[in-house]
Amino acid sequence: MIALKSKREIEIMRDASRIVAEVLNGLRTLCRSGITTKELDVYAEKIPAKYGATPAFKGYRGFPGALCASINQQVVHGIPGDYVLKDGDIVSMDYGVHYKGYYGDSAITVPIGRITPETAKLLKTTEECLYLGIDQMVPENHLSDLSRAIQNHAESKGFSLVKEFGGHGIGRNLHEDPMVLNYVTNGRGIKLRPGLVLAIEPMVNIGTDKVRILSDGWTVVTNDGKPSAHFEHTVAVTENGPEILTRME
Ligand code: MG
Ligand code: MG
Repeated sequence: MIALKSKREIEIMRDASRIVAEVLNGLRTLCRSGITTKELDVYAEKIPAKYGATPAFKGYRGFPGALCASINQQVVHGIPGDYVLKDGDIVSMDYGVHYKGYYGDSAITVPIGRITPETAKLLKTTEECLYLGIDQMVPENHLSDLSRAIQNHAESKGFSLVKEFGGHGIGRNLHEDPMVLNYVTNGRGIKLRPGLVLAIEPMVNIGTDKVRILSDGWTVVTNDGKPSAHFEHTVAVTENGPEILTRME
């Protein structure tokens, strides 16, 4: 069942999403060679309290971190730990908060020092996929318009899309209907209407689209060990088009 949000609910989600954006902005500035992903997690866990918010992922189905920190060939759901970021790495940081009964959810992939041109192209393309998908979030469009925009762009650049994970509705729950695929299947999907709030999150790989989960039960990695990038925003469909609730200043 899809729960459309009232203007009042979207207001609260805007506030929740602003906290998410602030934390991700802070994390971006902390990201440098020599810092551990655990140190990033400490920051992500600490900041929401000053707003009366809580990190959304900590304890979610038993996830141990406040932040998902996924390095290089890790796609999503990386557990923060002792890994020390180094020049040439990319780190995907996926983060959400719970605030006044609602969730916000967003992700960025950040380069550490100098990265290869191909990896830089991966980051740029994945972020472009996110915004091309968001552009489709206008009333009367269908969900598949969004999926198609994401898939076409990634594949036109020679990259592949992770199929096992995708975006989702968001609101009173972190994950709500509908599921938002980053590739096209049969059918047009639901019609988009004002009040629909979605987390759009393309996960794009340089090589194979195939992924597996490490023995920690969480970390998703590419089968071929090549890099993967992830960008995400929480976005509301309004009469005037998409409103990116987690937009960063
Ligand atoms: Mg997320
Ligand atoms: Mg999400």
